[in-house]
Amino acid sequence: MEAVPWELERRLSPGKQEKELNMNILITGGAGFLGSHLCRRLLKSGNRIICVDNFITGSRQNLQDLLKNKKFKLIEHDISRPLSVKDKLDWVMHFASPASPKDYLQHPIKTIKVGTLGTHNCLGIAKAKGAKFFLASTSEVYGDPKISPQSEEYWGNVNPIGPRSCYDEAKRSAEAISFAYFRQHNIDIRVIRIFNTYGPFMRIEDGRVVSNFIYQALTGKDLTVYGKGTQSRSFCYVDDLIDGIVKFMKVDYPGPVNLGTPYEFTMLELAKKIISFTGSRSKIKFLPLPEDDPKQRRPDITKARKLLCWQPKITLDQGLKKTIPWFKDKLK
Ligand code: NAD
Ligand code: UDP
Repeated sequence: MEAVPWELERRLSPGKQEKELNMNILITGGAGFLGSHLCRRLLKSGNRIICVDNFITGSRQNLQDLLKNKKFKLIEHDISRPLSVKDKLDWVMHFASPASPKDYLQHPIKTIKVGTLGTHNCLGIAKAKGAKFFLASTSEVYGDPKISPQSEEYWGNVNPIGPRSCYDEAKRSAEAISFAYFRQHNIDIRVIRIFNTYGPFMRIEDGRVVSNFIYQALTGKDLTVYGKGTQSRSFCYVDDLIDGIVKFMKVDYPGPVNLGTPYEFTMLELAKKIISFTGSRSKIKFLPLPEDDPKQRRPDITKARKLLCWQPKITLDQGLKKTIPWFKDKLK
């Protein structure tokens, strides 16, 4: 186990298991890509879900199959504003936030608000209900990292006033306030840092690289590689990530824990794979690299391996081959 501050270490008891069934779970951002997968997965294992979303980047359509389920409740609400919940809650899971650079660059203030005020509101709900709190943080807390792979001990290299700061700093402050509630109010928290995740239910034109390239390849448009395409990312298939989240809910440790795949690809490699897997005639077009775009990103998942006995199972090739048909279907 890596060195963790003593007050966190004393909370560590990886063997402690907890029932997954029959819990009341509030999920913010439940109508988004990851949130809708999480709602589906936790409903399937017998829990009741209250999904809170304002649809800024998510959609009711992502929840179509769940809306008739008696154990599923949808509340349309901006979680940056206080929310009063009558139900008992076992977990508050905070996933609400624009997550694609295209989205948060379009909504910088709303992104800061949901990371700061939204997290505060969720922690307040968790405290009032005696519930556990789960934060979906991000690899973006490492900024444009100067070390690779990034372990949880790395403090990052973030430009506090750059265009991405609305997201990066909001998530860093979301982590800070979660740990303040953990230390001051003894709230039981779990913080994960999610690395680039993809799969069905992404918005087709959300601007993230996997969705963009698949959409472009399937519609015969040129694939837009930013910069020289030598920057790297590590892509995790959504089912693997959701498995990691559910495992983390059962372990008594606040985090942060990196969840992602440790295999790194350049954007040029990704573009070529997607052209090949879609059988597209699209070409590659080079566009300017956005400001502060991280040059590399790869998680050190030693902690997740040891603590959760988790590692991703689905390769990038397998995951893309599961994702492309979903996009094809949506484009019909
Ligand atoms: P997404 O944009 O598909 O989903 C976000 C959801 O949050 C949407 O349904 C949106 O409408 C909702 N939302 C945003 N602001 C809200 C507000 N103020 N009140 C209520 N609802 C609000 O993004 P995603 O990829 O599903 O990401 C979910 C979470 O995971 C985010 O917090 C993101 O930072 C984190 N994350 C995702 C990735 C990834 O690769 N997908 C990587 C790192 C972190
Ligand atoms: N990218 C790209 N073409 C696109 C979209 C993104 O080359 O059409 C690059 C982007 O510059 C970044 C990487 O792909 O280096 C991942 O971008 P994404 O928006 O998916 O998420 P990020 O990891 O930057 O948050």
